Amino acid sequence: MSSTGSTTFHAPLAWIDGRWQRDVLMRAGADGHWRELIAGQPAPLDTVRLSGPVLPSLVDAHSHAFQRAFAGLAEQRDSDSDDFWSWRDRMYGVALRVTPDQLKTIATQLYTELLAGGYTQVCEFHYLHHREDGSPYEDELAMAWALAEAAQQSGIGLTLLPVLYAHAGFAQPGLRDTQRRFRTDAAWVWRACERINAAGLPRVRAGVAVHSLRAAHAQDIRALQALVGDADVPVHVHVAEQQQEVKDCVAATGKRPIEALADHGLDARWQLVHATHSTREEIARVADSGAGVVICPGTEANLGDGLADLECWLGAGVPMTVGSDSQVTRGWVEELRWLEYGQRLGQQRRNVAAQPGRQPSSAARLFEACVAGSANAAGLASWGLRAGARADFLVLDTSASGLAGLPDGALLDGVVFASQGTPWREVYVGGHRRATDDAALRERYIETMSALWR
Ligand code: ZN
Repeated sequence: MSSTGSTTFHAPLAWIDGRWQRDVLMRAGADGHWRELIAGQPAPLDTVRLSGPVLPSLVDAHSHAFQRAFAGLAEQRDSDSDDFWSWRDRMYGVALRVTPDQLKTIATQLYTELLAGGYTQVCEFHYLHHREDGSPYEDELAMAWALAEAAQQSGIGLTLLPVLYAHAGFAQPGLRDTQRRFRTDAAWVWRACERINAAGLPRVRAGVAVHSLRAAHAQDIRALQALVGDADVPVHVHVAEQQQEVKDCVAATGKRPIEALADHGLDARWQLVHATHSTREEIARVADSGAGVVICPGTEANLGDGLADLECWLGAGVPMTVGSDSQVTRGWVEELRWLEYGQRLGQQRRNVAAQPGRQPSSAARLFEACVAGSANAAGLASWGLRAGARADFLVLDTSASGLAGLPDGALLDGVVFASQGTPWREVYVGGHRRATDDAALRERYIETMSALWR
């Protein structure tokens, strides 16, 4: 089982290279990364025999942890209209109050829930940096360290993305008072990224983020690009989430947002979050650059953002991931289901993501796209059930509702389109099983919520 720190697992079925393979021997090294995975092998005596089919976990490529404390609290309308912008004003109410201690508790609860939801790495798009009055903490990364501690405590991997946030809008010189905790410039963001990476915390790494084209103008983005240079770190950006943003961008720059972003020079490090409102030409430019797209179907539905052009993104071969974003959804099954169902509802068709003759399963096409997009989104060298990737995986429960009685070939379809709750019984990160519920943590979370909303 464990000699020289390595562990060998045996799975009756495992999802490798886009299909189920039988009797798979999976050996993880002492560093928690896969050494080899070999199908068609009987289980030797000293093996950890896994009780069900094994799926790779996914990266949650877009999260704002503090918004977990707001999920479920913005679902009533008390004026004529309610949209993204009115939601944002109410969300700032939480953003203005959360302390580092509270953030740590909220994020630990969230990260435990994300593990339960089948994510084993989370990209934290982190813009809540300063004290409630807008002044820096004694250690200006106090809030970032709170997130890192939460990740360490829950056992999830973390890609911390300190955010460049400098303007309230396209034509605004600075920020609104309610955005005072977010204020940064390119130098601040790059310093944060370097300090987090230099800290060398297990399973924690940093990249950078640009809040949006409205919050970071062309000169801010150029300054950040100059500092990042060719460093191998992910660069995330919110883009084209709302029609209003597209209109404002065209008015300010003469270009649509994805087009304006592409003019900055995208590459495989860039991850375009949402990218909801796009043209075919914009998608083609993103595809040429190697950049990825991060779709957050649960949040985009909740906020009334619109539907991404899924077929065009998939058809262009743009690497794709999903994210929990505002935390109204916290598992990838629900994201993939929403992603496909949004298209079916909008187009009055079925199996929109499927590729007849090549990949007839919508679930498999979406899942494979996300496995393939995960490494770049998180700034990791590789991802999935392959040698070199971290030994992260899920062990399915074939007696779970939605999977019971299905033939092996339909298991992933059952997971995405027929399961209730999470149809796996074990979640592993780096070869070690993780807790997906913690009663004491839940108590602390409830206390934090009552302090926040008292
Ligand atoms: Zn976001």
